[in-house]
Amino acid sequence: MGFEDILKRHFDKVVKEVDFVKSTYNEMKKYGFTDQNSIAAVCVCRDEISQSLRSLIKYTWGEAFNFSSLAGMFTAGKTGLVAAMHHAPKLDGRERYVYFVIPHTAIDGNGRAGFCKRKGIEESSACGALCLFLKELNEGKLHISIDEEDIEESLMKRRLLSEIPYGYIPELIELTKITRGVIQSDLERVLNKVVDTTKSDYALITGIQIHSPDGNYIWPSECYAVVNGMKQEVSLGE
Ligand SMILES: [Zn+2]
Repeated sequence: MGFEDILKRHFDKVVKEVDFVKSTYNEMKKYGFTDQNSIAAVCVCRDEISQSLRSLIKYTWGEAFNFSSLAGMFTAGKTGLVAAMHHAPKLDGRERYVYFVIPHTAIDGNGRAGFCKRKGIEESSACGALCLFLKELNEGKLHISIDEEDIEESLMKRRLLSEIPYGYIPELIELTKITRGVIQSDLERVLNKVVDTTKSDYALITGIQIHSPDGNYIWPSECYAVVNGMKQEVSLGE
C-alpha cells in the first residue's frame, strides 16, 4: 500500500496545508474574525518542517503569537496565554483571538508512519519527540522524572502518559491524535479561566499536520468559534 492508502486509513479527510489555512480565514471571517481585528496564536511542534504552517498562518492572519514547544504541547500556560490576549487588537470594543493547535506526523512513500525526508536527509522521523517517547514505551524503559536538561520532553511524556491506559502502547498516529486532544484540553482549561467572553471572541482551530512525499497535508479536527459567549462548531477544509 502506498502513502495515499495509509493516509486514508488513518485520516478520514485531509486537505493541502495551504488550502487548510485559506479555509480557516474564509470560514472564520463569517464569524467576524479577520487579520485586521484578530490576533492568531499557534501551538505547533518546534520542528523546522512544521514551520511552513506558521508561515502560512503569518501570511494569512499576520504575525502569530508562538506557543510552540516540543510535539506542540501547550506549556506556555497562563502567562503565555494572557500575554497573547493582551496583544490583541482593541477595535469596536471587542478583542478577538484565533488559536491553532496542530501537532504533526509523517507518512513516507512506502506508507510508513513517522518517516519523512528532510533537506539533505533521505530518512528522518516526525514527530521526533513523540517517536522518542514511543521508543521508551516499547523498550519498557520510560524515564518520567523531570530532567532539568530536557524539560519539554519530560513534561510531554508525563502529560501524555496520564492519557494512555496503563500498559497500552499506541501506534504513532494514534499517539499523535491523543496528543492533539491533550493540547486542545490543556489550552481550553486555561482559556476558560482567563477569557472574558463578554468582551472577547475566540476561535479554536485544531488538526494534525502530515508530512508526505506530496507535501504537507492537514487533517482538520475539532474547530469552533465562541462569539458573544456562544459556541458554534465550524467545518474546515471544504
Ligand atoms: Zn515534532
